[in-house]
Amino acid sequence: MKIKDGIVGFVVGDALGVPVEFESRNKLKDSPVTEMIGYGTYHQPKGTFSDDSSMILATMDSIIKKGHIDYEDIMDCFSEWCYNGKYTPFGETFDIGITTRKAIANYTKNPPLECGEKDFRDNGNGSLMRILPIAFMDVNKETIKEMSSLTHAHDISKTACVYYCYLVRTILENSEKTLKENIQLTNSKMKEMYKDDDILNIFDSIIDENIFDFSEEDIKSTGYVVDTLEAVIYCLLNNDNYKDTVLAAVNLGGDTDTIAAIAGGVAGIYYGYDSIPKEWIDSITKIDYVLELCEEFEKVIK
Ligand SMILES: [Mg+2]
Repeated sequence: MKIKDGIVGFVVGDALGVPVEFESRNKLKDSPVTEMIGYGTYHQPKGTFSDDSSMILATMDSIIKKGHIDYEDIMDCFSEWCYNGKYTPFGETFDIGITTRKAIANYTKNPPLECGEKDFRDNGNGSLMRILPIAFMDVNKETIKEMSSLTHAHDISKTACVYYCYLVRTILENSEKTLKENIQLTNSKMKEMYKDDDILNIFDSIIDENIFDFSEEDIKSTGYVVDTLEAVIYCLLNNDNYKDTVLAAVNLGGDTDTIAAIAGGVAGIYYGYDSIPKEWIDSITKIDYVLELCEEFEKVIK
């Protein structure tokens, strides 16, 4: 099922980007990241993953425990992460998005599906960065949207999550095809699913495939979910192995860890677990726990 390939690919991308989060592209041009390093932005040791991976681990742990998607339990697990440092490398939450923090605070008074923020400004990449486990599950588009809306309830965020899940599913079904062909297939599927909905216009550079000819200057690697998804697709299209894909994502600068994590999830699935540098995997804090969750998750969703 390639759970391990995707999740470890994701966590490694996250850890690779953490030390240089918010660095400018220009600065990274002068001194690009080429290896797993430590310290930097959050002064964390090498192999430290961040909120992106913690929320994925929380989601998987909940689904393993419950045997299915239980929104309340997932929000309980997110709260455990946010307030008590569970699912973090060292028991401490050092990085959390504003919209995610607000949604988790809303959970003290609202039911889970009414916690997510809905303003246009609440379209950071905070739900896209934790949706990967759901891509492996046999759930429909509405469930993917509900999963997003636990924290990010605007249509743009929900659509980005649907796109990413369908990209992963397309790749799982068409592993012999190129990544470009898989992106084209995903675009066709999205156009069909959203034929009566103009929300896809927001993603037109991807859907209309102009992104196939984009150069790096056309890519904004910010935390806005549309910029993030474009950066991810750009890195997938312009590299032909796991290592170069995630390094390209990190060296775009900006929201380095999240973009590398989301690109790394897909690259891990497409190129396979063995394509992820072993020394990078070995450097990940709590890698045994990550691998154990992957195994348990695979059993539960079969
Ligand atoms: Mg992060």
